Amino acid sequence: MATPADTMINSAVLESGHRFLGDLGPAVDLPAAERAVADLLAALGQDPSGHPGLADTPRRVAASFAEMLEPKPFRLTTFPNEGYDEMVVARDIPFNSLCMHHLLPFKGVAHVAYLPDNRIVGLSKLARVVELFARRLQVQEALTTQIAGCLDLNLAPKGVGVVLEAEHMCMTLRGVQKPGTMTVTSALLGKMREDPRTRQEFLSLIHGGLAPAR
Ligand SMILES: [Zn+2]
Repeated sequence: MATPADTMINSAVLESGHRFLGDLGPAVDLPAAERAVADLLAALGQDPSGHPGLADTPRRVAASFAEMLEPKPFRLTTFPNEGYDEMVVARDIPFNSLCMHHLLPFKGVAHVAYLPDNRIVGLSKLARVVELFARRLQVQEALTTQIAGCLDLNLAPKGVGVVLEAEHMCMTLRGVQKPGTMTVTSALLGKMREDPRTRQEFLSLIHGGLAPAR
């Protein structure tokens, strides 16, 4: 009978030195964040006490950042693989993250695939892994690598493929201002990287029946 194996993905796991999980960092200090937002508003020439609409803004902004930066721990439960040797693909997993350089959001979809060896994982957990790494200050390249590395570490599959397509508000609202520009990043490990046929299968599965234009 199948015996599941659990890895609780939380700060304890991170402390044990799992190389791809990185550091979730300390919890958000809400009062300090509120004060800082009030200072930022003042520095931007906006006086929270001078406008009723701004009165509660420091608290709201601090709470929003806390929500976007504090991933929820979860159990990455894996099961023995009983003979499935095809690729497992989760396509179009929506995610939001925060750009490390501008503190502005970037959002898009992740396509996550693995080629099982001895262990498989519940499909919903692939989305949880994406969310875990998205809820911190990020650059898209690192986010892609961390998702792939986490699955590689915990499933020891024959291969992993991760492709992220995202729109960065720091590109579309400011700077070059090109709305709709998508940034695509990928991380391929194991057979997904080494075997051209496997890689091709992955790419055609995530692009087959193209998702509607975003
Ligand atoms: Zn940015």
